[in-house]
Amino acid sequence: MFFIMLPGHLVYTFEITAAKDQDKNNVKIVLDIENAKCSICLNLWHDVVTVAPCLHNFCNGCFSEWLRRSSSKSRDKSQCAACPQCRTAVQSVGRNHFLHNIEEAILQTFSSLQRSDEEIALLESYASVKSNIVLGKQKNQSRKRPFPRSTDNIDNADLPCPQCRGEFGGFRCSPGAAHLQCDGCGGMMPARSNVNIPQKCLGCDKAFCGAYWCSQGVNSSHFNLICNQETFKMISQRHVSRLPDTVHGGNPYEKDITEKCIQQSGKTLQAVISEWTSKFDNMEIDRSRLQLNNVDAITSRTYICNHCYNKFTDFLLYWYRVSMPRNLLPPDAVNRESCWYGFLCRTQHHRPDHAKKLNHVCRPTRGNP
Ligand SMILES: [Zn+2]
Ligand SMILES: [Zn+2]
Ligand SMILES: [Zn+2]
Ligand SMILES: [Zn+2]
Ligand SMILES: [Zn+2]
Ligand SMILES: [Zn+2]
Repeated sequence: MFFIMLPGHLVYTFEITAAKDQDKNNVKIVLDIENAKCSICLNLWHDVVTVAPCLHNFCNGCFSEWLRRSSSKSRDKSQCAACPQCRTAVQSVGRNHFLHNIEEAILQTFSSLQRSDEEIALLESYASVKSNIVLGKQKNQSRKRPFPRSTDNIDNADLPCPQCRGEFGGFRCSPGAAHLQCDGCGGMMPARSNVNIPQKCLGCDKAFCGAYWCSQGVNSSHFNLICNQETFKMISQRHVSRLPDTVHGGNPYEKDITEKCIQQSGKTLQAVISEWTSKFDNMEIDRSRLQLNNVDAITSRTYICNHCYNKFTDFLLYWYRVSMPRNLLPPDAVNRESCWYGFLCRTQHHRPDHAKKLNHVCRPTRGNP
């Protein structure tokens, strides 16, 4: 058991054991999910930020909104804000890429902890912590930052680029070379136009380092601050074993129907996804509903990030359902009429009876009131 402690504050607990596989340099980190929750909203962190010096963690949106409210209440503007969890005076706050990776890994395994798109959008509209912003005076604060963070001037000691430090895959960065910051781990990699491996996700135009470092023979036993290659992969090399909760706009009834349709067809989810991916490749489906950048350039050989891949499978499953003949739907879904507002309907998210009674995997036939 391993505790990260500061005087008076237990921050979080990890249990670290040697991994069973051959690679002796790996350890397995066990974390109680309860320790990965925000004490403001009680959900799993979203875009986690860490406050110093107490090192409590919150959703960026929750903390930002709390800060905004508490500073508008406080008469003395020069006074330090207090941590919402322990009331310690907050000296600085920053986004925490290390814990952000843990947050993503938890969501990969427990997709039921994923919040609805509406909740996320609201939270993100509050989020104001962009980097390592500083509140109040920095007295008594150690110069060394406890965690790697995104800062305005990133120095190599904080977020090292492996190829600035040494030669890997026959390449070493020249002094002053342009770098990209990975959106997954916050680490740096050289921006290279002469390599075959993509460094940016075509779906969101953000940089991801997993595929690049793998191609350069760098892995996390050399540098722990890089992404796993599984986080940035070709569409055709990905594997889905269960329906994400975000499918059909997060409407659980529609998810259930799609699940039954797939079961009845005797195919696996992966087989259905592969089949619809080739229809996508062959331009057999209208791409206008796909909420990604560069939609026309995307094929099954495109590298995309996990987030964009989720959107991609949601899109394919929409078309799978829309083109399903009525008589192949499960008995309780055959006679449902389509909601006028289709997939855009807001009522389906707060009225379960409505979500259940009408079909929402369809185009809107009129606008929301
Ligand atoms: Zn929160
Ligand atoms: Zn605190
Ligand atoms: Zn470099
Ligand atoms: Zn992406
Ligand atoms: Zn990365
Ligand atoms: Zn509706």
